Amino acid sequence: MDGEPATPRCLRCIGTELVPLLGTTEEASFLECPLCHRQYAGRAGAPLSYRWGHPISLALYGLSFRSGPSDRHLEMAVDALSRGRAPEEVEQAIREIELELAEPTQAVRNILDSPQTESECRDFLSSVVASLRSTRP
Ligand SMILES: [Zn+2]
Repeated sequence: MDGEPATPRCLRCIGTELVPLLGTTEEASFLECPLCHRQYAGRAGAPLSYRWGHPISLALYGLSFRSGPSDRHLEMAVDALSRGRAPEEVEQAIREIELELAEPTQAVRNILDSPQTESECRDFLSSVVASLRSTRP
């Protein structure tokens, strides 16, 4: 099958082929895992990363267009992940971020083209998780 691009696989569910979603174009593809329902974005020639809307993207959003991180970025990230959300949703977001920190699947800075380095982004995510945990019972 030379020249045939391999179907992208889920970065968490080994061997599971991703299903294309609406909105996929020549330049950008949006994919979902049929098992875990994680959604990915792919660009030509770039590795897959989580799609906008993933908890990590929400946490890193404030950093993506400003230098930092600062306490203000931390507040923004905590707010983005907790405001108006049910406790179970917040817990799920925390676990998803912790999982990525413990078992990396991708360069998280690629999700939003963050200007920070990968390790700065990951340190920031650790702070966000710690902060979310500290404000919860
Ligand atoms: Zn999956």
